[in-house]
Amino acid sequence: MSDCYAVPGLLSFEQALSNMLEQVRPVTETMSLPIEQAVKYVLAEDITSPLPVPPHDNSAMDGYAFSFTSLAAHRTLTLVGRSMAGAPFQGECKPGECIRIMTGATIPQGCDSVEMQENVVINVQDITFLTTNAPGANIRKAGEDIQQGQTVLQRGQTITPVYLGILASLGIASVKVYRQLTVALIATGDELKSPGQVLAAGEIYESNRFVLSAMLEKLHVNIIDFGIIADDYEAIKAAFISADHQADAVISSGGVSVGDADYSKTILAELGEISFWKLAMKPGKPFAFGQLPNSVFFGLPGNPVSALVTFHQLALVALTKMQNADHLKRTTLQVTCINDLKKSPGRVDFQRGVLMVNEAGDNVVSSTGAQGSGMLSSLARANCYIVLPSEQGKVIAGEQVTVQLFDQYL
Ligand code: AMP
Ligand code: MG
Repeated sequence: MSDCYAVPGLLSFEQALSNMLEQVRPVTETMSLPIEQAVKYVLAEDITSPLPVPPHDNSAMDGYAFSFTSLAAHRTLTLVGRSMAGAPFQGECKPGECIRIMTGATIPQGCDSVEMQENVVINVQDITFLTTNAPGANIRKAGEDIQQGQTVLQRGQTITPVYLGILASLGIASVKVYRQLTVALIATGDELKSPGQVLAAGEIYESNRFVLSAMLEKLHVNIIDFGIIADDYEAIKAAFISADHQADAVISSGGVSVGDADYSKTILAELGEISFWKLAMKPGKPFAFGQLPNSVFFGLPGNPVSALVTFHQLALVALTKMQNADHLKRTTLQVTCINDLKKSPGRVDFQRGVLMVNEAGDNVVSSTGAQGSGMLSSLARANCYIVLPSEQGKVIAGEQVTVQLFDQYL
C-alpha cells in the first residue's frame, strides 16, 4: 500500500486516512449517564474498582463448609449451622464441625473448604464426607475476578452489555461518557428515487442512505437524514448549510466523480475548506473530505459499493476518532486464494471475498466473482475484504493474500 506505487495524481489510501485523522477533532463534551442508558456510549473516564469482586470468599457449590484439617482426624463432622447467600453464618466453625452452605454464601470463619452435597451422607446432625478434595476446594476467593483499585475499564472503550454487567457488579450506578455525534446524511442525484416510488425512464432506486444509516446506527450516532437532493446548485447549497448547522459531520454520496462534481465542489469551496481527492483505491476513486464552518465533510462516491467501502475504510475510522473511541483494530489473516484475481498495480484494492475452511482444515479465500463498484450483491455474499496492496498485480490461484474480516459495522 506504499505511496511509490500509486498512479500519479492519485493520493494513497494511507495518506488520505492519515490526512483525515489529523484534521478531525474528538468531541470534548461529556455527560453522566445511569448505566442502564450507557450501552454503546464511549467512556470518558477510567473505571477503577471500589471493591473486590467477589467481595468476600464464597461457596461455588451447594454443600458443606469445614476446615480441611478436621477431615484428617475423622470422616464425619457435626453440623452446627448454615450459611445462605445473603444470610451468612454468624459464629465460628470449630474443628470437627461443619456448616451447611449454599452457592454464593460467605465462607464461615474457621472454614477453608467446601464439599458438594452429592459427596456426603447425612444422618441427622452427622455429615459423613465420602471424598477428599484439596484444601480451598469449591471456594471463590474475594477479589479473584476483580481486585479493589484495579482499572477495569478505560476511557475510549465503547460500553458493551458485558461492561454493564461489570459496572453493576462494582456497584457503579452511573458513568461519565462522551456525548453522541450527530451526522447528517445526504444523497445527491437527479436519477434517484426512494423505494416505494415509481421509477421514470433513467431513474434508479436510492440505496446508499439505507446502508449508511444502518452502519451509522451501529456506530451509535444521531442521524439527520436529508433524503435525496437533486443535482441543483441552490438545493445542494441549502442542504449543506442546514446540515452543517446541525451536525458534527456531513456525509453525502454521489456527485463527486468528474463531470457532475461541479456543484458540490463549488459550494463546498464557498462554505469551507475542501479537498477533493482521487484516491489510489478501488473501489472508490473519487472522495472528498474537508472542513465546513461547524462540521467535517465526507463526500462519498455514488456507486453503492464505492460508497460503502470508502465509508467503512475511511469515514468510519475518522468518526470513531471524533467519538473518542479506541482506534479500530481490524482482524487480518494471510490465507491462500483459491482462484485468480484481476488486479493492476497502482491502487489498493478491496475485493470482496468469502473466507472458508477447506477440506484439509485450512483457511482459504475465494472471490465473490464480478467486482463492479455498483454490484452490491458481491458485498452481500462476502464475509471479508481481500486487500491487495497498491503494487500488487493479478493474483494466481494458490497465492497467499491478506484478508480483512468484516467487522460489526457491516
Ligand atoms: P455519482 O458519484 O453521482 O456520479 O454516481 C455514480 C453512480 O452511482 C451513478 O450510477 C449513480 O446513479 C449511482 N448512485 C449515486 N448515488 C446513489 C445512491 N444514493 N444510491 C444508489 N446509487 C447511487
Ligand atoms: Mg450523481
